[in-house]
Order: sequence, then C-alpha cells, then structure tokens
Amino acid sequence: MVREPASRSAETENNQLHLEGAVSRKMRRAMKSLSILLAACALLAGCESNPITGRSQLMIVPESLAVSESATAYAQMMGQLGQKKQIEVDTARARKVRDITDRLVAQAIKLRPDSAGWKWEVQVINDPKTVNAFCMAGGKMAIYTGMWDKLNASDDEIAMVMGHEISHALAGHTQERMSVAITSQVVAQAAAIAISSSESTRGLAMTGTQLAAVYAVQMPNSRTSESEADAIGLQIAARAGYDPAAAVTLWEKMGKLGGSPPEFLSTHPSPENRAARLKELGAKVQPHYVEARANPAAVKRYVNLK
Ligand SMILES: [Zn+2]
Repeated sequence: MVREPASRSAETENNQLHLEGAVSRKMRRAMKSLSILLAACALLAGCESNPITGRSQLMIVPESLAVSESATAYAQMMGQLGQKKQIEVDTARARKVRDITDRLVAQAIKLRPDSAGWKWEVQVINDPKTVNAFCMAGGKMAIYTGMWDKLNASDDEIAMVMGHEISHALAGHTQERMSVAITSQVVAQAAAIAISSSESTRGLAMTGTQLAAVYAVQMPNSRTSESEADAIGLQIAARAGYDPAAAVTLWEKMGKLGGSPPEFLSTHPSPENRAARLKELGAKVQPHYVEARANPAAVKRYVNLK
C-alpha cells in the first residue's frame, strides 16, 4: 500500500524525466534548426546586391527605416542649429546650393528612379571652420560654410562634393554603415562617442538607430565605398553640367588643409593618388559634361519641397 504509490510515483518521475529528456532533445533539435534557419534568413535578408554597383552589401537595416530614421535625426540636428541661428535661410549662397543640388538630384533620379520619392532637402550650416558636407539616407543633405570660407570652393567644386555625398546615399552606403553600426557593439559605442562630441548633434536625444544614421554620414567610409562614390558622383555632376576637372582641384585644395579631415578625405592617406584617379574618371565622363553644357536642362525644383 505504501510502496505502490511510491513505485508509481517513481515510475511517473521516470516517465517525466524521460519525457523531459525527449522534449529537451526535441527542443534542442528545434532550436538548432531554428538558429540555422535564422542565420540563413539573416544572410539572405542581410546581404543585398547594390542596385547601382552590383556589390553585395550587409543590409540588416531596411532602406525604409534608414530613410525615416535619417529624416528624424536630420530634423533634430537642423532644429537645434536653427535655434542657434546657424542655418542660412534664403541667402544668395543658400539659393545657389539649392540650384546646384536640384541639378544633381535630377541626374540622381535618372540613375536611380525610385529616389524621386525621397524628400530631398539641403541646408547650409553657418560654421566657417568646418569643411564638410553630407547626404543622409533618403536625400537629407547639408553643407558647411567652411567650404567657402576655408576652401574658397567654386560652384563646380561644390557640385563635386555634393555629387559625391549624394552617391553615398544612392549606393546605399549610409544604410550599409547603419547596419554595421547596429550589429556591432564596438561600432555602436564609437558612434555614440563620435556623435556626443560632434558640434551639430551635442545634447540631442536620439535613439540607437538615429545615432547610427548620423554615424553613417559622419564617420569615414571604406575605400570601396569611397571609390564608388567618386565614380557615381563624377558621373552625376558631369551630366548636370559641372566640370569634372573641379573634382581634381577640389581634392588638391583639401589635401593642403590641416586639422581633422572631412568624411570625403579621411580614408585617403594620399590626396595625390586620389587626384590621379579622379583625373582618369573625369576624362571618361567629359563627353557628358560637354553635352550638358551644349544643351543645358531647365532647373527643376527637387529639394526642400514639402
Ligand atoms: Zn565619401
């Protein structure tokens, strides 16, 4: 009477253990196949072939998210700079930059038709000491007045810088860098440090994805991305009617600048090598420039349209 329940209980326990063992083995097997499946999905979903260059890129962050988070981060940055009266509104220089970027955007859309749906915007940031410019995912652009004050950049040279920056966005480099920042703890920490020490973003409350969006346009790109942006940028600028030779003079001027290098100079230890390559690329797109000068297209408004 006493033993029976005990043995029944032992039996139940045994069965339970057996069952648990089977379940956990099943679970482990299921988890293993799930993780293999997830890894395969991540590889499939994460690596995309670039629509312009064909290169395979890590794209964990979908472009729609890169675009929306960049827009939010950009609005925060411009809002803060606006409060500090650092955004040039309707100056001759701001109008000129709009005209240049309108021409470039028209060519960008020809190269990547879906970018016609982007809310293209450009702002001139009054910061005479900073020689820099950027274009975030989705076409949110800015240029610092140091480009004129420190570099005395011509319209053609401004077009080269903006063409280069627009190309990073078109070729998904911003999205690619956001993906790397989000998946890598080390990069994420570097992003947070870089951004908290940056003049234009100090004191802003941003989410991780928004930080990654800013990081993507502030930190140096890989040499592969730089080469892609040089080639695409020169093509866009030449087709928009800007002299490809300006790419060379621009990089020569920037090569002589001291201090911390801007994004478009940072991964290039030798400005002379880049100038030589830009000369070569410029010769290839020269016919487009000649054609655009002979038949100038009417300027259509693309930027800052709400
Ligand atoms: Zn670049």
